[in-house]
Amino acid sequence: MRKKIVAGNWKMNLLPVEAQILYREIIDKKSDDSSVEMMVFPPALYISDLMKMNAEVSVGAQNFYPEEKGAFTGEISVAQVTAMGVKQVLIGHSERRMYFEENGQLLKRKVDAALNFDLTPIFCCGEPLDIREKNGQGDYVLRQLEESLFHLSAEKLKKCVIAYEPVWAIGTGKTASIEQAEEMHASIRRWIREKYDHTTADAISILYGGSCNASNAKELFACPNVDGGLIGGASLDADSFIKIAQSF
Ligand code: PEP
Repeated sequence: MRKKIVAGNWKMNLLPVEAQILYREIIDKKSDDSSVEMMVFPPALYISDLMKMNAEVSVGAQNFYPEEKGAFTGEISVAQVTAMGVKQVLIGHSERRMYFEENGQLLKRKVDAALNFDLTPIFCCGEPLDIREKNGQGDYVLRQLEESLFHLSAEKLKKCVIAYEPVWAIGTGKTASIEQAEEMHASIRRWIREKYDHTTADAISILYGGSCNASNAKELFACPNVDGGLIGGASLDADSFIKIAQSF
């Protein structure tokens, strides 16, 4: 049985008090009997404080540098993130690829470093608009996975979560249709099956991200190959985020 996951990417939003209030609200409103795993990815500065507040809604890291320590001014190492108690890390988000020029090689190093430290990589992939318009999304996403993820053994790949996030849907209010989402999720699972095996393909949770909100989550999560969501904007409102988590 694959894990159902709803993860909130807070990006570079919220002041310290606002982050604490939002996290507290999420904890208080979350239903105790849900089988959905909830996690939030706040700015790194707030991780330790939020960690002290609750263990049921995991607190992950949006970013880290794939070295243990050293002369990398301004970075947070994989060892430091782990020492804070983090269990999940985002890797390959389109904003990191786009604004910080993170390429497939670096992302591969991040995936390896995360797994070496027993962190769960939430590996993001997804095509920009011009590629979708040329119907090249399949090749594009497959290449992203081949560059940074498919070097792993089946055993290690099973420890990863994949988030399909079409770039044209992130923060735009333009969600992928049910057909577009399911088609890509099914393709990703098929590629894993072809490269690895059935068991591996069936074990990996594949999340959808890109303007997923309280109104469209139910139909997206009803797709057979969609195992949850990576939520940006709508995760900054506790009620919306909780409603999304209740949409299975
Ligand atoms: C994201 O940044 O991962 C994301 C999916 O953002 P939004 O939900 O705002 O589109």
